[in-house]
Amino acid sequence: MRRINPKDFTMAKRGTSREINRQIVLTLIRTHQPLSRADLARLMDTNRANITFLINDLLDEGLVREGAMGNEVKRGRRPTYLYLNSDEACAVAVDIRATRTYLMMTDMLGNQLENVVSFPTVYEPERFSKILSEHIRKLLDRYKGISACRGIGVVVPGMTDIKTGIVLRAPALGWLNVDLLGFLRKEFENVPIHIENSGKACALSQIWETRSELHTHHDLVFVSISDGVGVGVVINGELMRGKHNTAGEFGHLPLSIDGLPCLCGANGCWEAYISNLATISRYFGKNLSQRQPLPLETANFTIEDLVKQARSGDGKALSALHLTARYLGLGLASIINAIDPSQIYLGGEITEAWDLIEPQVRDAIRERTLTKDLGETPIRIVPAIEHPRLRGAVALVTAPAFAAPKVA
Ligand SMILES: [Zn+2]
Repeated sequence: MRRINPKDFTMAKRGTSREINRQIVLTLIRTHQPLSRADLARLMDTNRANITFLINDLLDEGLVREGAMGNEVKRGRRPTYLYLNSDEACAVAVDIRATRTYLMMTDMLGNQLENVVSFPTVYEPERFSKILSEHIRKLLDRYKGISACRGIGVVVPGMTDIKTGIVLRAPALGWLNVDLLGFLRKEFENVPIHIENSGKACALSQIWETRSELHTHHDLVFVSISDGVGVGVVINGELMRGKHNTAGEFGHLPLSIDGLPCLCGANGCWEAYISNLATISRYFGKNLSQRQPLPLETANFTIEDLVKQARSGDGKALSALHLTARYLGLGLASIINAIDPSQIYLGGEITEAWDLIEPQVRDAIRERTLTKDLGETPIRIVPAIEHPRLRGAVALVTAPAFAAPKVA
């Protein structure tokens, strides 16, 4: 994998690929637009001729467009500013979860174009991909049709093979070696389709989105809590993948060897203690499972409902949340001890109750981390309204065109 240091945008020198310079230009325009050619030359520490050469190609290919800025200089030649040409193209993001599957359409800068839509997840892969394809088509028809689609990014609650895109295992869906990508490619022949583990995609999008910020965290962990627990780990600015792209499965690290049964077949996994269903189970005093039909009184009860109950003074709801918070903190402490990240990002519906659960999470972290500094590891909440998993899916499509770690 070719590595580009996102903090060093200096023009790549002779012997390096022109492709890298193109990617750097695209990234700079995306994060700083509008930009003049002179700005670009300064940022890349090169001369105008080099920039003109690169920009002419990008203009010809329709990736970049010229435009004016609000306050043009009054005298002399008007500078022409450069923008990414994001108007005509779109990307579709898909977030597959055990209960429902969510879709979002964005432009190539990741700006949302339509409301998020969702449907209940069906576990039979071929039938699922047919239903998903219909929803993707409907979404695209509302915009400019399939020809405008530059890619489909799919995140799954499971492990994927980076070369083939096969879902190796998704315990929550009961999937083993499912070629979802193959099914979708039959439906959308000319559209690039990317598939990635949801925790990893969240971590990747976090690196890409914060790349232009002053303080980029090179060691970060993204923990997404929903029907299951997805974790993405970034070390030295690169996603930790491991030999088989399955590294980072902290959701299945046991909190207790003989603990609650997990959908993966083991006992005591972190996920079995902090998933949305685990918290709801605690509230109802029942051991609910996604694999079995839920009892009537719990079937339509969501974690958002539980948070509402807690806020309205329901003591049982609050103690269910507090216990989840403790288990959440205990698991985070293991991750912190193992990784020593500079920042942890937390996403998922339960974070809507962060003000109610933060003290319990922090206490558990302090209790189990090995040094005082580790106990103070910063945690940043990524609100559900930002759709971190869908953002992760979008980044699979939009980010490879820029100076970013290659996805596949
Ligand atoms: Zn497990």
